[in-house]
Amino acid sequence: MKFPDRYILKNCRAVDFKNKRVRPVQIQVDREIIERILPINAAQIPGIITIDIKNRFVMPGFTDSHTHLMARGIELQRVDLGGCRSTDECLEKLRRHRERPEIFGSNWDESDWVKGRKEDLDRLTLDKISAKKPIIMRRVCGHFAICNTAALKRIGPKWKIVDRKRGYLYEDAALFLNLIFSPSDNMLEKGLELASEEALSMGVTSVHEITNIRNFKMFQKLRPRLRIRVALYTYWKVLDQVIEAGFQSGLGDNYLKFQGIKIFMDGSIGARTAAMNNPYPGTKNYGKLLVNEEQLKNMIKKAEDNSLQLIIHSLGDRATETVIQAFEKCRIKENRLRHRIEHLEVVSDRQIKRIARLGLIASMQPNFVRRWQQPGGLYEKYLGQAYRVMNPFRKVTDAGITLVFGSDSMPMGPLYGLTGATEHPFPANRLTPAEAFDGYTERPAYAVFEEGRKGRIEPGMFADLVVINKDPLTAATPALLKIEYVLVAGKSGSKHDRIPARPRQA
Ligand SMILES: [Zn+2]
Repeated sequence: MKFPDRYILKNCRAVDFKNKRVRPVQIQVDREIIERILPINAAQIPGIITIDIKNRFVMPGFTDSHTHLMARGIELQRVDLGGCRSTDECLEKLRRHRERPEIFGSNWDESDWVKGRKEDLDRLTLDKISAKKPIIMRRVCGHFAICNTAALKRIGPKWKIVDRKRGYLYEDAALFLNLIFSPSDNMLEKGLELASEEALSMGVTSVHEITNIRNFKMFQKLRPRLRIRVALYTYWKVLDQVIEAGFQSGLGDNYLKFQGIKIFMDGSIGARTAAMNNPYPGTKNYGKLLVNEEQLKNMIKKAEDNSLQLIIHSLGDRATETVIQAFEKCRIKENRLRHRIEHLEVVSDRQIKRIARLGLIASMQPNFVRRWQQPGGLYEKYLGQAYRVMNPFRKVTDAGITLVFGSDSMPMGPLYGLTGATEHPFPANRLTPAEAFDGYTERPAYAVFEEGRKGRIEPGMFADLVVINKDPLTAATPALLKIEYVLVAGKSGSKHDRIPARPRQA
C-alpha cells in the first residue's frame, strides 16, 4: 500500500509512558512528522485520507540503544548456532555447511546446552570437520571464539589474547573477526537489509549502532535505502583519526548520523573476562581490564575537547570503578556530551551514587537478565551468589540515573528483553511497565540528543509509530504482546505489517 503524504490515523489509543496514560485520539501525520493530535471525536477534515486503527494501542517506535545491526545481518548469512542444545549439535550444524569456503558459526550459548561443555571444544575438534577450510565458532557475546588450525593460521601475531594451542580467541581477536574473515560487500548490503527487516518486525524504528569504519562507509552508501534510523558509534582505535578529520557527535541527518566513540573496559561474564573486584568463584581469575585509568582519562579529555560522545563498555565492578574514577578526576560535572556506560551489570550501591552524581547515562540490557540471570542460569554458575545483585534496574532508576535499554542484538527484540525488567528474577529490582518501556522509547532519544523528535506521540515528533495489540502499560509480561504494525517517518516500515485497512478518502 502506498502511503499518502498527509493522513489521519483515527481511533488510536495513544500510549504515553511518561505520564502512564492512554489517550483516545486521532493522529495527523504530515510527511514524516506528527502534525497534530486531535480529539477522538473531531470531525473529519475534508480532503485528508484516514486510516482506521480500530482502537488499537499506538506507541512511539522503539529505539534499541545498543545494536550491532550490520554484524547481525552478516550473521544471518552465516551458520547460526543459537538455539543449539549441545556441543554435538553445534558441530553437526557446522559440518552441514562443509561445502562453504569458510565455515563461520556464531551465537552459541553454553547455557542453552544440555550436553557438553565449551571446554570440550578446541582447535582439534574443529579440525575433524575440516583441516583445510577455516572454521570459526564465536560465542553469542562476541568476546570469545574457538577456531580450527586453518583459521588460526590467518590470525596474525598482532592479535592478542589468543590461546594458539587450544584455538581460543578472547576479546579483540574474537570481537573483530570480521576484519580477518572479511565479509564481501554484497554480504554487507544484504546483511543490512535482513537485519533492518528483523528489527522493524520487532517494532524497532531507531538504533544506536556500534560498528567498524568499513561498515560505517557501507551505511553511508546505503543511506538512501535505510528504513530504520541509525545513530552510529565506532571504536576507540580510530579516535585520533576522527578528531583529526574534525568529526563531532551528531554529524549527519535524520536517518544516519555519526554519534561517537565506543571504548571497551572489559569483556563479558560468559567469557569470564569482565573485570571484577572479586575473583570468579573457584578461580584466581579477576577478569581483564583492557584500558587503565590513565588511558581512559586521556580519551575522556580528548573527547571533551572535541565534542565527542563516549560510550564505555564496562560490565564488571572493577572496570566500572576505573570508569568512575577517571570521570571524577577529569572533573566532568554536568556531562554535557551525555557520555554513557554500557552494560553496568555488576555495580555496587556506592558506585550507583557516584554515577548519578557524575550524570553519566546507564545503558543496560534487560534481555541479558531474562536470558542469563535466572536462578540456575549462566550468571549464577559463573558468579555464585553475587549474581543476585546484578542489573539493579530499580536502584539505578531511583538514584536518578538516566537508564536506557538496548539489546546488544542478543537477540534484538525489545519485547523479549523488557520482560527481564518487569519480571526481574529479584523483585526488588523490577521496573513498572511504564518505566521499562520508557527505557526503550523516550530516554534513548535523550541519550543521542533527539528529545523533542522521538519517543513520544506529540506534535513535531517523527511519525515513527508502533501499533501493538494490547495496552503495554498494564502488561506484566511484555514478551506476550504483539507488534502489529510499524511506521517509520509516516510510512509503512516492515514487510510483516498486517494492518491497516485501505486508506479512505474523507
Ligand atoms: Zn555490544
